[in-house]
Amino acid sequence: MNHYTGSVPDNRRRKPDWRDNAACRAADIHPDTMFPDSDKDRIDDARTICWKCPVRLVCLRDAINTGDNQWGMRGGLLPEERRAVKKELNRRHKAAEAQQTGAPAKATAPPRTSYPSLRNLFDAHTKRIIHGHLAWTGPERPSFKGRSYKPKQIAFILDRGRPPVGRVLTTCSLSGCVMPSHIADDSERMPRTGTAKAAA
Ligand code: SF4
Ligand SMILES: [Zn+2]
Repeated sequence: MNHYTGSVPDNRRRKPDWRDNAACRAADIHPDTMFPDSDKDRIDDARTICWKCPVRLVCLRDAINTGDNQWGMRGGLLPEERRAVKKELNRRHKAAEAQQTGAPAKATAPPRTSYPSLRNLFDAHTKRIIHGHLAWTGPERPSFKGRSYKPKQIAFILDRGRPPVGRVLTTCSLSGCVMPSHIADDSERMPRTGTAKAAA
C-alpha cells in the first residue's frame, strides 16, 4: 500500500474519507512535488495538481480549519496564501460577531477587498499556472462597488470590454480557469442561435 500522503496530513488508521481521493497522493507524483519552496515552475506544477483535484475545496477548508498553514500546497494555495485567507475569515467573523452583539463598528478594519478598479481586483486574485491557464485564488463571488461577480464574468468584462451574454464558461481543459482566451459567453459559444439573454 502507498503511504505517501502528498501535502495532506494523514494517519494510517482512519476511516475512509476525502483524503482517499486526493490528487496529490497519486503514486506517480514525486514526494517533493507538493512542497515547491519558492521555485515558480514548481509552484505552478503543484497548483495545477490541486486545481484538478476532486476534493480541492474540502482540502482547503481542512487546511484552514486545522491551521495547516506552514508547509506545502493545500487546496491550490501556498502557506502564505492560506494564512491570508484565514486572516480575512477571522476579520469577517469578528465583524459579524460585533454586528450581532451591537459592539461598536470601529472594531472592524477597513475591508481589504476594496480595490480601485475591477482590473486591480482581478490581478490581485489570479495566478498564472502551467500550460497558459490562469487560476482564480480569490473569493467565490467577489464584489466590486456593491455588486457581486463571478470570477469568469470579471475576466470576460476586462478582456472584451462588454458584459457577457448569458453564462461565461471555461473552454479549456482546466475547470475554473479564468484565462480570458479560455472562456466564452453564450454569444461566442453559439453565435447563431440568437436565443441567449443578457447576463443579469
Ligand atoms: S487540493 Fe491539492 S493538496 Fe489538497 S488533496 Fe487535492 S491535490 Fe492534495
Ligand atoms: Zn485554461
